Amino acid sequence: MALSDLNPVERNEEGIAAVLGILKQQFGERFQTGAAIRSQHAHTTTYIPTQAPDGVAFPETTEEVQEIVRACAAHRVPVIAFGVGSSLEGHTNAPGGGISVDTSRMNRILAVNPQDLDCTVEPGVTREDLNRHLRDTGLFFPIDPGANASLGGMAATRASGTNAVRYGTMRENVLSLTAVMADGETVTTGKRAKKSSAGYDLTRLLVGSEGTLGIITSLTLRLQGIPQAISGGVCPFPSLEAACNAVIATIQMGIPVARIELVNALQMRAMKNYSKLDYPESPCLFVEFHGSDAGVAEQAETFGMIAEENGGGPFLWTSVAEERTKLWKARHDAYWASLTLRPGTKGLSTDVCVPISRLAECVAETEADIAEMGLVAPIVGHAGDGNFHVLVLMDVNDPKEIALAEKFVSRLNMRAIAMDGTCTGEHGIGQGKIGFLRHELGHGVDIMRSIKKALDPQDIMNPGKILPA
Ligand SMILES: Cc1cc2nc3c(=O)[nH]c(=O)nc-3n(C[C@H](O)[C@H](O)[C@H](O)COP(=O)(O)OP(=O)(O)OC[C@H]3O[C@@H](n4cnc5c(N)ncnc54)[C@H](O)[C@@H]3O)c2cc1C
Repeated sequence: MALSDLNPVERNEEGIAAVLGILKQQFGERFQTGAAIRSQHAHTTTYIPTQAPDGVAFPETTEEVQEIVRACAAHRVPVIAFGVGSSLEGHTNAPGGGISVDTSRMNRILAVNPQDLDCTVEPGVTREDLNRHLRDTGLFFPIDPGANASLGGMAATRASGTNAVRYGTMRENVLSLTAVMADGETVTTGKRAKKSSAGYDLTRLLVGSEGTLGIITSLTLRLQGIPQAISGGVCPFPSLEAACNAVIATIQMGIPVARIELVNALQMRAMKNYSKLDYPESPCLFVEFHGSDAGVAEQAETFGMIAEENGGGPFLWTSVAEERTKLWKARHDAYWASLTLRPGTKGLSTDVCVPISRLAECVAETEADIAEMGLVAPIVGHAGDGNFHVLVLMDVNDPKEIALAEKFVSRLNMRAIAMDGTCTGEHGIGQGKIGFLRHELGHGVDIMRSIKKALDPQDIMNPGKILPA
């Protein structure tokens, strides 16, 4: 993607200069304008070019976020929320400059209500911090994107990950939130009741809005009980299609699998070398079951039979925590392992999601496309949701390689949409997927634009993202 292809956002030099002066005075050392820190707060995870903000503020309270937004609103300056910067589609870039609002100092856990299975946190708390805090309560927060992302960032991207197949995504797990809107006012979108029919669902409007409507300053999240028993293992298959068919059968039979992750042969090679795993270099499913001792044993046995019927196996599974941890660490390190397949290159990580019945077909066509286009591009997927990722490894200094990767991604997105799926199951639109939104949602994009205009008439909240110019 050339910089010129990204949504342009005009710089407001005068406004930016005014806001830099105001925030320096208000925040002192907690407002930084050095080149290194500004570029760390722009997009850093893929080949999409870095577009740095003009300054980075580190607020500690909702009121301080309000002060920043009000200063930006008064001078029509972009304001871009920042969690830990692990998003993959240029979400945190500042195409028109402006102020990055780093939420890392808003990292307090405000309440845990074990009896109600919920908690309230500030947006800078990371999912690993929260789970460490919860350990002694017997509860955990299940949403698990590979990165140790902030909960504010996860809500803003409607993230999910390996165990969404059992526990849902951020859409199902945020009960309510408080956000500072573009005019500097705060809104709290709900109470702690497990369900509500009270008016428009503002929680779900803000979840997935990628910082384009407001800055989340607290979130109330659903929690789960830590299961009595967990078992899991790895099962090899003769082909990617066979592995997908086993996933489809597992889901259609209603086995309450907690994780079922697809890894193709190339990805398996990378993971074997990087994480020292002793499994065949063939397509594999990484599977995990949660429940009682008897329940997980039964689920594992049933899955083993399904695998065998689809030509897979042997399915080796264990309940030993250390062995499981090693497997899932390897799965979470898949991104870093892939980069070793072509040293010196960068990855373009793309994700699509299709109805489960179309998964095998979509993955098979995609693998054939990778071979035909001569790409080095391993596949991994949260296959139980029909969601999979391709990491295209490319030399970012070679325009031909970039063009080829973009062509591949475009074909993949259009294939998923044609199969009644989506161009992004969990990474979001950011800058990288703007071109596909209308293909997927048609007039829905105009409705989104009306909402954006009503709530952010000056277009200061993370401009240049989600909606086509
Ligand atoms: C190795 C790797 C593996 C990954 N695997 C997965 C995966 O399995 N599943 C998945 O869903 N994602 C995955 N991701 C993507 C990424 O981790 C998620 O998108 C994550 O939710 C981003 O959180 P963050 O804290 O890094 O947000 P950031 O990158 O800092 O921000 C992301 C977006 O959210 C907005 N934002 C941040 N904080 C707030 C706030 N408080 N209020 C309003 N808007 C805000 C930003 O403006 C930006 O638009 C992966 C990324 C990497 C690098």
